[in-house]
Amino acid sequence: MPNIKCSVTECSYNKDVECFAPAIQVARDGNLSSAKNSDNTKCETFKPKH
Ligand code: SF4
Repeated sequence: MPNIKCSVTECSYNKDVECFAPAIQVARDGNLSSAKNSDNTKCETFKPKH
């Protein structure tokens, strides 16, 4: 994995504002058929810290 900076520190894969998941999946947000900007995308690998 290339270095992925991620500010979602409440994710269990996040350590020191970096992603340490072996791979991540990103998808369009909601039911969009075409993303227009980064706000229209989301990380589906997010897993909350318990
Ligand atoms: S899995 Fe997604 S939300 Fe979690 S640290 Fe990685 S990039 Fe961020």
